[in-house]
Formats: sequence, C-alpha cells, structure tokens
Amino acid sequence: MKNLPFTKYSLTGSPVACPICGNVKSKIISKYDRRFKILPHSKCDECSLVRHEFMLSDEQLAEYYSKNYRNDYQWVNSGPTSNHIKKRVSEAKTRLNKLRPHLKKYPKVLDFGCGSGEFIDLMQDSGALASGFEPGNLYASYAREQKGLDVQNCGWENYECKEKLDVVTAFHVFEHLTDPLKAFKKAISWLNVNGLIYIEVPNMANALKLKGFGSLHMAHTIGFGRYSLELLGAYSGMVPLEVFDEFDIGIIFKKGQPRPLDEIKSNSIDEFNDINSKKVNKQFWLYSTLKLFGKRFKV
Ligand SMILES: [Zn+2]
Repeated sequence: MKNLPFTKYSLTGSPVACPICGNVKSKIISKYDRRFKILPHSKCDECSLVRHEFMLSDEQLAEYYSKNYRNDYQWVNSGPTSNHIKKRVSEAKTRLNKLRPHLKKYPKVLDFGCGSGEFIDLMQDSGALASGFEPGNLYASYAREQKGLDVQNCGWENYECKEKLDVVTAFHVFEHLTDPLKAFKKAISWLNVNGLIYIEVPNMANALKLKGFGSLHMAHTIGFGRYSLELLGAYSGMVPLEVFDEFDIGIIFKKGQPRPLDEIKSNSIDEFNDINSKKVNKQFWLYSTLKLFGKRFKV
C-alpha cells in the first residue's frame, strides 16, 4: 500500500526557508516525484535552488534511510555490488584527472560521504594520504574491512578531523543534505589555509529539462544548478577555481572573494528560468514516451 501512486509518503516534513539563501518564498515546480507519489518540489524565488517543499528533519531523514531507502533503491540492498564498484572506479579516475592539476605532492585528502571508498583507494595509489567518512554502515565497513581504508562510519556532523586537510571532496552527496551550508562550512573548518573543496552534484536544471519530474525523488532533498552550487561556496567565502559544467556539475572551490551574491543569484534564476510545473509535467511525459518507443524498437 505504501507505494501506491498519487498518495503521500508516510513521512512528511515541514516547510522550510531556502537552505542556501534563507528566502522563504518559492514556487512549486512539481507536485509528484518519479514514482507518482505526492512529493512537492519548489524552486526558491531568490536563487532558484530546488528543494522538497516539505523538508524532512535530520531525524526523519535518518529514519527514511534506515527503513525505506533500501527498498526504494534496490541497488543498496546489500553491500556494494561488482557493477557498482566497476562504475565507481571509472568515475574516480575521471574525477582524479580533473583534480590532479590542482594537487600538491602527497596531499591530505578527505572524501566526504565516501561510499565504498573507490576514490580514496585511487588517491592512495597516486601518493595521497586519503581518508573518508560514510554514514551507510554496509559501505563504510566494506571500505574499511575489505579494502583496508581509513574510513569512519559517521555523518559530517560527527566526523572527527584529526589534522588539517589539503582537499575535501564530496561526490553526489550535497543533494542529499538538509543543511548544505552548515555542512560546507564544517568542511572548510577542516581545511588548511589554501585548502580546496571539490563538489560534484547532479545538475537539477539539466535533469528537469531532460526527464521532468522523472528526475525527482525522496533521497534528493535539494537540486543544485551551476550557479546555486557557486552560491553555496560564495556564502562561505569560497570561489570556483575550476568548473566542470557537464550533465552533472562539479566545482573545485578555493578561498577567495566571491562575486556579488545578487549577480550569482541572477545567473541561477536565468539557468532555471523556463522550469515551471507545466514544463516539468510535459517533459516527463515526452521523455517517458520516447523511452517507451525506444525500448519497443530496440529488439
Ligand atoms: Zn534561495
């Protein structure tokens, strides 16, 4: 019964202000998620950050992850599968290649939400002193016990940073958080004076333009675009050193004087300008129909 379409999830959160700019005004861009469950998403009037209109508290989110997440996403039903690992190893190589020009010799690197640890493993092989933390216990214990990596089983709030770092990386983690600004500032507190933060997240503007509400789901509490990710850094005194604006969005941040906040917000508004509930609905049906026909003819 719980997965019946057009019904609410058993956990429902409360309205919140924009987790980055603090503005309370927003517009609904979709009433549903990709399973046709009622899960309204809105877009901030000031900075266009997409968020769950009713945000779960950290406690509720933890409950969701422990009870429902594995059923909702079959691929996390157990520890990491060989397919998962193969994919992550390939992604880790691509990410290291992007980061490499900015690394000094023997850097101290922390992977924030490191999953099964493939990026840490690769960094170690390339001469870094690499470690990480991961709240999912199956993945954290795999990284620690099977791979022998330095991984703490915890979330960012409880992570104990013993020495200052040169780089913090976070790949596809920040879209799962309820308070990304606090988490980002915490990560800065772990850095050396010239430390870098490399964040990669799905670009929600691209995802909505491709799949409509088929790109929305319970686990992604926040949807960034190219500029709302820059804005996250700007509120914390960090500026882009390099931007990888592909289907996903990646930014390597360094400390610096950010562009005026209004300028970044205005860029973000432009990026999400044509995203509204009508367009998001229409795009879902268009994408689904094309996918269905694609499958039918692909024998
Ligand atoms: Zn905002």
